[in-house]
Amino acid sequence: MKCENGVKMKNFLEISGGRKNQREAVEKKAVAILEKHFSRFRNLQINIELTNEHHEWGFCSWVNTGIKDREFEITLNKDVELVDLLETLAHEMVHVRQFARGETKHYVDGRIIWKGEDHTNTSYKKQPWEIEAHELEKEWASA
Ligand SMILES: [Zn+2]
Repeated sequence: MKCENGVKMKNFLEISGGRKNQREAVEKKAVAILEKHFSRFRNLQINIELTNEHHEWGFCSWVNTGIKDREFEITLNKDVELVDLLETLAHEMVHVRQFARGETKHYVDGRIIWKGEDHTNTSYKKQPWEIEAHELEKEWASA
């Protein structure tokens, strides 16, 4: 018999790269965000990589396995201050929830659909998923 109540962590995290103290801080924050903002989700696999190979502060993508679309990659720039690293993590976690809820859909032909509307040609500043992520990042970072 399975005991659901005893299982607190329902989603899975994997953190790589960066320094040990960065990984520990990112893990702690990611767990807090999952508990607070992902309580309805099960079996998400979130892989977080701390690197300086890219120029962006961070990004999030959806690993489409074709079987279950439950796996996500977050890349964070490890060369920024810890407070900024955690805020970027919070921002990217908002994007994970948008993907997991099916609000954002990226198609292989390049189309981007947000809540049923085509936003492929919407500029970055007007993209509703970015507006939401910028609105929530500070709140989620203080989770
Ligand atoms: Zn964003």
